[in-house]
Amino acid sequence: MANVRPYHASFTTDVEYHQYECDTCGKTAANTYMEPARSQMLERQLCWHCNYWREFEVRLEKDHSHMTIIDGHVYGPGSRTSGPMRGMAGRRFDIEYISPSVHAGKRITTFDLWSGSNLPDDLAAKYPDTARFLGGAEKVEMEGDIKRCWNPSDRQGEPYPLPSKLDLR
Ligand SMILES: [Zn+2]
Repeated sequence: MANVRPYHASFTTDVEYHQYECDTCGKTAANTYMEPARSQMLERQLCWHCNYWREFEVRLEKDHSHMTIIDGHVYGPGSRTSGPMRGMAGRRFDIEYISPSVHAGKRITTFDLWSGSNLPDDLAAKYPDTARFLGGAEKVEMEGDIKRCWNPSDRQGEPYPLPSKLDLR
């Protein structure tokens, strides 16, 4: 902890912040974040970004085989079928789970798909995809203002069961 020094925040606060060099990427970091990130960052001597992925790896270690990872991207398939605030504007996505998912071979349809993060390369190599899109659904990377968008499944047939039928995390 030799290089940890007080960090004087530009806002009024009773909290004592610290500044140090990130143990992983070497950037100067200050732990001006809400708990639990504030304590984790200081204990681990990590910047916000490196601490975020360290935490995410804890989740992957525990839940990887129950998660929805397609092309290195983490998703949260919801089970709501009505209402205005659904993921991906309520469009339909058919998903099939693949090995090493515990649900390999099972298919679901979600009308409430939430997009998480792209895994960094080292985590993507360690924690492979657990699912794939069906029916023409895909993520499209683009240049310009809109960096990324998704095309829904074009399948018109009977939907597969909702994600709530599986133990997804
Ligand atoms: Zn870092």
